[in-house]
Amino acid sequence: MGKQSQTSKQSKDICALCGGLCEHGTTTSTTDFGDALIVVRSVPALVCQQCGEAWVETAALAALEDIVTNARARKVPVEIVTMAA
Ligand SMILES: [Zn+2]
Repeated sequence: MGKQSQTSKQSKDICALCGGLCEHGTTTSTTDFGDALIVVRSVPALVCQQCGEAWVETAALAALEDIVTNARARKVPVEIVTMAA
């Protein structure tokens, strides 16, 4: 019977930077286009408990991209959006 305790199981809950455990939380996403800075707050993310790195949840990526695209279309130099829960 397999006794492989440490298989290379790729989990989203493990930080890709330091291997620490990530917990559900939120982060602030900043996208700098040079002519426009889009800041999105309260983005669902897995936050590393060890190094603090935040990984935007896969399920939230499309919505985040949408917000950034829409915000940029407004052609303002700085846009700060808070993502709805
Ligand atoms: Zn980490």
